[in-house]
Amino acid sequence: MIGSRRVPRPQTALLLCAALCAACGEGVPILMYHSVSDGGEPLTVTPDELDAHLDFLRSQGFETITLREVLDAHDGAGKLPRHPVVLTFDDGYQDAATQVLPRLLARGQKASFFIVSGFCARDEASRVTHGPHGYLTWAEVRALADAGMEIGSHTVSHRQLAGLHKAELRAEIEQSRAALQAYVDQRIDFFAYPFNDQRQWVRRAVEKAGYRGAVVGAHGNTDPFTLQRLTMHRGISAADLRSMLSESWETSYTEGG
Ligand SMILES: [Zn+2]
Repeated sequence: MIGSRRVPRPQTALLLCAALCAACGEGVPILMYHSVSDGGEPLTVTPDELDAHLDFLRSQGFETITLREVLDAHDGAGKLPRHPVVLTFDDGYQDAATQVLPRLLARGQKASFFIVSGFCARDEASRVTHGPHGYLTWAEVRALADAGMEIGSHTVSHRQLAGLHKAELRAEIEQSRAALQAYVDQRIDFFAYPFNDQRQWVRRAVEKAGYRGAVVGAHGNTDPFTLQRLTMHRGISAADLRSMLSESWETSYTEGG
């Protein structure tokens, strides 16, 4: 709707972005994190890197909001802050509780966590691990929600959804939501496609299941069911993050989102 707006130089983009986002309710940058630990695969950022990102966002006046707040503003049911940003963490790794949550709380920030319900164990003794990763227990998922974090569904088993039969697809989308809602005291309204692999029929199933929106990766846009996210990986400095946020603004507002 504002695709023809003139593009500012990158240095001025952040400030203008804030003004425009507040006006139109679209184009809020959404960052996609996975695990936070030292070592691990490229999508794992270190605790020091996360500290640098969170400090940068705070120092620049960015206010962390939830996806619910983004869509409320989109629907005219709420207002965005001047400098909104959404932080998302996929897969429900144990370090969401041990590394991420304390860092967010220390800065008064919040995030959205996309949980694979079938990986959540009922207690410490039965905690699920894959390779170097441990996954959250249900008590830890509840603790994230109780601390004011937004919980979303990332299916039951993190399979590629595109290859599933209809009944399996529905089960992945609906049972994960039901399981999460049984454990946390909030509506589960948002979905993250495993591997960010979004197909038309998968998207329709997510919509039909009653979700309010869903996130993908860099190929997304400002459609509520294919919300674009910026991939955060190891080696991204605060300066890199600044550039990414500026570029994201230009993409959203020169290509019409
Ligand atoms: Zn995932």
